[in-house]
Amino acid sequence: MRGYILNLKKNRDEDLIVSILCADRLFSLYRFYGARHSPLQLGYKIDFAYESDPFFMPRLRSVSHLGFDWIFALSKVRYWQIFARLLYRHLSGADEIDDFYFSLLERAALKLSAQNPKRVLIEAACELWEREGRLHSDLKCLICERRIEDSLVALTHCLTPAHGECVYKEGFDREALIRLFETKETILFDDKEIDRLWRIVEEGL
Ligand SMILES: [Zn+2]
Repeated sequence: MRGYILNLKKNRDEDLIVSILCADRLFSLYRFYGARHSPLQLGYKIDFAYESDPFFMPRLRSVSHLGFDWIFALSKVRYWQIFARLLYRHLSGADEIDDFYFSLLERAALKLSAQNPKRVLIEAACELWEREGRLHSDLKCLICERRIEDSLVALTHCLTPAHGECVYKEGFDREALIRLFETKETILFDDKEIDRLWRIVEEGL
């Protein structure tokens, strides 16, 4: 099977509980410590097998890493791992999972080789919110519920729009935001705005 490691939790001293997102579910598998095992890294894509244990958790077996050409670019890996953690927090608790989430990671991982990691992952977050019906492209203010006509639009958690004066926040360019919501492209935002957008994504999916 193939999946992305979304969480690694230490158990006892060196054992691990590994959460792996596959196309149709989020596995939690147990890995006993073994000196010959290659270390597992958050966010990495692996090929694996698992073995049921009638008295305990299913065990993770036969792991091999499936690399990407950006996997040694620490600046990319760092943001990828933050996104993996956010996605884990968002999906944990669900057993069966729509294959949208796996394919979202597949597409984002491919884009990461050529593109800025924050841009790729902001775009991925917008795809996720749209899929879940949580992308507020109608530009209605979260607080006063009136439509936002200003040239700058403030954004709160999950890029939910608001009037700058309703939430006391600096705004983002309206046209750039409409483009992002419609096409899931960050192209009209400059790098400073991307930093601000990323900080909102980091608060949670
Ligand atoms: Zn308002």
